[in-house]
Amino acid sequence: MTPGTPATACALCGGPATETIEAPRRTLARGPDPGDPSYSLTVILPDIELCLEHALQVREGTRLIGWCDDPRCRTYGEVGEASSCGNLYGKLGTSKRV
Ligand SMILES: [Zn+2]
Ligand SMILES: [Zn+2]
Repeated sequence: MTPGTPATACALCGGPATETIEAPRRTLARGPDPGDPSYSLTVILPDIELCLEHALQVREGTRLIGWCDDPRCRTYGEVGEASSCGNLYGKLGTSKRV
C-alpha cells in the first residue's frame, strides 16, 4: 500500500489490482508425451490478481475465474470467455462441484 508499488492488472477487467486470491492447485496433463494418459502433474498456478470489485465477486461466487493452459496464454480470465489464443477459459477447482 505504498505509492510507487508497481501496479498489477486485474485478471478480469485489466484495471489496477488491489487484491490477491490464492490459486487452487490443479492437476494438469502436461507431459512430454501428450499421448501418455498416465502422465500428469500438479501445476501450482500463480496467485490471482484482482481489483477490489472483482475480488468480492469471485469470493461471493458470482464470477468464476478460469485458466487457459495453452502455452500461448497461461492466463486467468472469466470462465466461458475466449482467451487470446481462441480457447475458452476453463474452470478451476474453486467451485464445490466441478
Ligand atoms: Zn477487475
Ligand atoms: Zn488461451
